[in-house]
Amino acid sequence: MRPHRFWWRAEASFSVQVCFGQRRPAIRPMSLSPERTPGLVIAFAVLACVLLIGSEVWREWHAREAALLSAGRTTTNLARSLAQHASETFEAMDTALVGLVDQLERDGMSDERLGALTAALQTWSAQLPRLRGLAVLDQNGRVVASSKPASLGDNRSDRGYFRHHVENPGRSPHLGAPVQARTDQRWVVTLSRRIAGADGRFLGVANLAIDAVTFASFYRDVSVGERGAMGLIRTDGTVLARFPDQEARPGQAIVPDLLRRMRDAPDGTAATAISPDGDARIVAFRAADKFPFVAVASLSRDEALSEWLRQATLRVAGAGPVILLILAAGILLSSQIRRRQRADMALREAESRFRLMAENSSDMLCRVDRAGIRTYVSPASERLLGLRPDELVGYSALERVHPEDRERARQEVARLQEGLSETKLTYRTRHRDGTEIWLETTVRVLHDPATGARDGVVTSSRDVTDRKRLEHQLLALARTDSLTGLANRRSFDEALTAEWHRALRTGTPLSLAFLDVDRFKLFNDSYGHQAGDECLKLIAGVVGLVARRPGDLVARYGGEEIAILLPGTDAAAAYQTGERARRGVQNLARAHAPHLPFGVVTASVGVVTFRGRAGQGSDLRPAELVAAADRALYEAKRSGRNCVVAAAALGLQDAPVRRVA
Ligand code: GH3
Ligand code: MG
Ligand code: MG
Repeated sequence: MRPHRFWWRAEASFSVQVCFGQRRPAIRPMSLSPERTPGLVIAFAVLACVLLIGSEVWREWHAREAALLSAGRTTTNLARSLAQHASETFEAMDTALVGLVDQLERDGMSDERLGALTAALQTWSAQLPRLRGLAVLDQNGRVVASSKPASLGDNRSDRGYFRHHVENPGRSPHLGAPVQARTDQRWVVTLSRRIAGADGRFLGVANLAIDAVTFASFYRDVSVGERGAMGLIRTDGTVLARFPDQEARPGQAIVPDLLRRMRDAPDGTAATAISPDGDARIVAFRAADKFPFVAVASLSRDEALSEWLRQATLRVAGAGPVILLILAAGILLSSQIRRRQRADMALREAESRFRLMAENSSDMLCRVDRAGIRTYVSPASERLLGLRPDELVGYSALERVHPEDRERARQEVARLQEGLSETKLTYRTRHRDGTEIWLETTVRVLHDPATGARDGVVTSSRDVTDRKRLEHQLLALARTDSLTGLANRRSFDEALTAEWHRALRTGTPLSLAFLDVDRFKLFNDSYGHQAGDECLKLIAGVVGLVARRPGDLVARYGGEEIAILLPGTDAAAAYQTGERARRGVQNLARAHAPHLPFGVVTASVGVVTFRGRAGQGSDLRPAELVAAADRALYEAKRSGRNCVVAAAALGLQDAPVRRVA
């Protein structure tokens, strides 16, 4: 059995169209409240975006930390190698000093020795371009030997390193604060040692100076970015050398904050510090082992992070559209779900409204698919046909139509298929109890709202049996003669025209007999008009019996004249029929005394037969058949009445037949 549940389809115009047929796929049951689904979709989309953003932020944070760590390692390594390089330089300087001091303490500081020493120092310093000067000061601070003879005799007792050695009897080298050379104002870094007698008495100072820029030449080969810096700082916070030297010059003290950091972490641990100009720096210190200085390396944090920032910008730029896409997809999906829910709700409301109407309508509503099969039948079928809907669904809509009406119904269906949108059909069908009933059905073509294509029809049927019965009765009355019960003149005229054309079409003969009661006026006069009416009824009954073939028609033509239309009857058979009618009237033996010689009611009959073919003798008209029959009747009257006269055949008929009873 085919599914026959129905559903209703709401159209965009808010007019609602009734549709029957396959149930629309049900809305999927959801475990969550459907009203909340659009909001949840948005929430999911937002959650996905938040997770995506979170993972991006986490990743970038780690990438940034890695970049900072790498920059920290770089500054640590720089500080370490710087400390090592400076230590080696000071080590070399000190080795020279140790040799010189040893020689002076062993050989003494006689004028000859010092003169020879000055010459040796001159030669020696010429081979060492980095060496700024090497001098020997006596216990009064006077230069007694020097790589630069011009400085012999200068008093340097005011120099810090000299005072240091006067005050400190220690034998270790002394790294002096940077000083500006008197000759060319260039900054020099000094390393000095005390010269002592065998008894420990202070004899003087051996001092070695190198240009501060000597270290800078080493820094220059190392890249520290535009805002990075490297340098050497004495443990008391005095700058010995720095590259680049825009911010601090040799001899200056470093900022207290940096000094504090330097003292806190002289082991090379990198840390972030804010420079006086507000720039964040990654700074690492490394203290030398043997000399009182600390190497420092710093990188600008912004510069260290610039590559990470460039990469991160690219990654964020890549993730941004994905996030926007997820959000847009979420919003789109949510709005679609909401629209669908609204449509479904409207559909459900319309469905319940029209289900109510269909189920309670007294008319039988059917949905018929494109193949002509019923897919839905409303419960009114039980009242109309005595059949349940499920006994009708799945069968052809034309299946129960009366065979005689089926062709007409098919033609209407064909018209609908050709483009007609609505039609009405009245036809016979059978009730379950076997009785024949008339249904009037309105058929309306349905269109698929989505494609606009024809999608079967919906029919609405009502029982019009009572109306049809009444119509038939009225029709019969309109075609019957009330006195005799025979067909009336109008029926005769219609039948004659129809049979005339049929005879022309088929080439079959068509005969007509006119019967007229003899001397009936005299009968009326003799027996009264009422008796005349009674007699006419009897005659009609007798004549009605002689024409028994289907299509034969006995009609009261007018007055006491009866026409007998005999389709498919040739002249001979027509004559016999006429004769049977005449004999039937006579055999009634109705007394008609003045009608002599017969003394009973008799009738005269004129018969004529026509045979033709369309295009051959078809210029004849039905009226001519009537006229010919009339003439034959007149002939019968003239021949003495109570006889049958056959007129000459009309059309293709051969010789006339004329017989007189
Ligand atoms: P004929 O033999 O030449 O036919 O003579 P007739 O008297 O019958 O003449 P006609 O046919 O011309 O007359 C018809 C008469 O039939 C006239 C009328 O008195 C009578 N008649 C016609 N119709 C009726 C009817 O319905 N009832 C009665 N009682 N008489 C009718
Ligand atoms: Mg007459
Ligand atoms: Mg008559």
